[in-house]
Amino acid sequence: MSDKQPRYHRYGQPAGGWGSAAATAKVLIKQSVLAKGSRALLSMNQPGGFKCPSCAFPDPICHQRLEFCENGAKALAFEATRYRVTRDFFATHTVSELMEQSDYWLEMQGRLTEPMRYDAASDKYVPVSWNDAFALIAKHLRGLDSPHQADFYTSGRTLNETAFLYSVFVREFGTNNFPDCSNMCHEPTSRGLPPSIGIGKGTCTMVDFDQTEALFIIGQNTGSNSPRMMTNLVEARKRGIPIVAVNPMPERALIKFTAPQDVVQMATFQHTDIASEFVHIKIGGDLALFKGMMKVLFERDAAGEPVLDHAFIDEHTVGLEAVRQDALAQDWAEIVEHSGVSEAQIRRVAEIYIRSNATMLCYGMGLTQHQRGSELLQQACNLLFLRGNIGKPGAGIVPIRGHSNVQGDRTCGIDEQPPAALLDNIEKVFGFAPPREPGHHMLKAVEAMMRGETRVFFAMGGNFVRAIPDTERSYAAMRGLDLSVGVNTKLNRGHLVHAKDALILPVVARSEIIRTAKGEQVQSIEDMVAKVTTSRGVLEPASPDCMPEVEIICRMAMATLPASKTPWAEFAQDYALIRDWIAKVFPDIYSDFNEKLKDPDGFHLDVPPHRRVWPTPNGKANFLLLPGLHVNTPVADAAMLRLATVRSHDQFNTTIYSNDDRYRGVWGNRMVLFINEEDRKARGLENQQIVALETISTDGISRRVEGLTVLDYPISRGSVAGYYPELNPLLPLDYHDKISGTPAAKSIPVRIVV
Ligand code: SF4
Repeated sequence: MSDKQPRYHRYGQPAGGWGSAAATAKVLIKQSVLAKGSRALLSMNQPGGFKCPSCAFPDPICHQRLEFCENGAKALAFEATRYRVTRDFFATHTVSELMEQSDYWLEMQGRLTEPMRYDAASDKYVPVSWNDAFALIAKHLRGLDSPHQADFYTSGRTLNETAFLYSVFVREFGTNNFPDCSNMCHEPTSRGLPPSIGIGKGTCTMVDFDQTEALFIIGQNTGSNSPRMMTNLVEARKRGIPIVAVNPMPERALIKFTAPQDVVQMATFQHTDIASEFVHIKIGGDLALFKGMMKVLFERDAAGEPVLDHAFIDEHTVGLEAVRQDALAQDWAEIVEHSGVSEAQIRRVAEIYIRSNATMLCYGMGLTQHQRGSELLQQACNLLFLRGNIGKPGAGIVPIRGHSNVQGDRTCGIDEQPPAALLDNIEKVFGFAPPREPGHHMLKAVEAMMRGETRVFFAMGGNFVRAIPDTERSYAAMRGLDLSVGVNTKLNRGHLVHAKDALILPVVARSEIIRTAKGEQVQSIEDMVAKVTTSRGVLEPASPDCMPEVEIICRMAMATLPASKTPWAEFAQDYALIRDWIAKVFPDIYSDFNEKLKDPDGFHLDVPPHRRVWPTPNGKANFLLLPGLHVNTPVADAAMLRLATVRSHDQFNTTIYSNDDRYRGVWGNRMVLFINEEDRKARGLENQQIVALETISTDGISRRVEGLTVLDYPISRGSVAGYYPELNPLLPLDYHDKISGTPAAKSIPVRIVV
């Protein structure tokens, strides 16, 4: 697992294609599961099979024989790996030694096999029985002065049945402290969209991709973070549908792509040009772009052109006038300055938008991870309202969700600000009074840890300490707790940055079979278009001591709440019973849950704006104003650059599959800084020079990362990019979206230090 000599050169091939085919075979071989993995891949994302544990991109209307992408194959291979982290492994490595290893090295050690407890005397993890593990958790939780001294984290890998029981247990225990992984990415979607349209979910289904007349892909690297969506983009291009890609980085797959399952393209080394218009936006320039486009529409409307959908606006919306006045008042020179995009190109893009009668606006972190991320999404809604592009075929707003069941977790109750109706139903159905005060999301959880208020941290999956901002301060806070628990399939840094007492609990993986006294169990998942389908494992668990996530919740609940009347023991054996209770608590969206799941294609949850029904307080779609052109606080420092922390192509969240990022021309190094050649020269730097990066902040805390290789890259001027989690130390905890608390990780003000 040696790290090879770094290499940097432009990747000349299209994304996808033979590169993806080779990468898929390579990862199965690297994890020594060529036969086993290939067999399992035939069941991934297939009706009756298991859902990919990676991103949340939905299955197509018509399944292909192979329904996975290169990154789905990596996720499966790393889960199905032959490598094992056994008690012998822990006996030969102290935690301090393991801390010296890279995230990639830790990931490569393999699957966890039995529960382990931290032994401070030896600085090692030692085996512990499941019973003792639950007893320890119960002792710590029951020993707290208040249930609010515990935080319960949820990774998007957690499936619906688990998420529901987790939300019931934590509330029966007495708190709403639910930090979850979406707090780091799409929380602006969950908190920013409701004031505009009444719900924090996308309004499209997969059918809309076949009916759309224009696609906008904004701040999202489709080819690496939702690769199967490339199939829809290729199909759209074949239909002559314009695709406008807006990004500071000309991501390979947004430029040219070869569909690995297109035999002709593969055999002839052909590709499809994806973006018909690439908008090389400045980091944080999207607001100016939206206002420039709206200005064009309002000017042409004033000139009498039929460019606005007045019927939709009059019937369904309120608040247009303020938005019109604001857009018309914007100065073109300022719009161009803030967006980094020429007036001519903005007019061209507006023309594409006007010519389309059905437009889908898809977005990722490039829109959400800013200090005004939630309000920026509301501006995207404003733009869509102007031409009635919500609630009609081929049109709508499409958050590209990053983790497989992140949307399902929220729907099933993982919410630190639970609606009263949910709490009322939980009280009615379960007979206990749930806490009514809002709890912790990620930001509040870390702040409480830093203040020493939190004593216990329980993580259902994920790698919390590695994913959150202000790494050094967050590590210190986690180490100050009494107990930390990590429920995971693989070893990660979250197990090494631990509380005084710590547990590692190995869980049955998504691709693995769950058997209980009631037979084989099936779970369910909600994808990014609110479609609910089943997931059924096909592989034997990595170890007989791995436990299903549902059973872990139930046994923790029984140990912690011995007087509870909730049927935890029955739930642990019968997942259909869990779904019956989900239907009781969510009668409006999950009635007849088990019956509906019998359909191999699953079913869609209701998203009212899809039907032009707006569950907002005023029952309307709301034009909302965000004055000015800034989505981040301006910084008066000539040396300032805006840093976007990004994933490589060989990475899923904090899981590192290799130190390569071939689409961006990097092999064997993750400590790199992508910079525009002009910005590099302006600072007197050489390409591939080693530099440090420091945060420009006003809180008096020094944040610096050393050892970064500067790499020329066609990124927009004034913008630089590097990988998380390595650059998370540069991200101040208090640098976040105002409304949702999501870290503004796509626009950190930094300067280069040599
Ligand atoms: S697109 Fe996402 S969900 Fe689908 S196979 Fe790839 S990583 Fe998995």
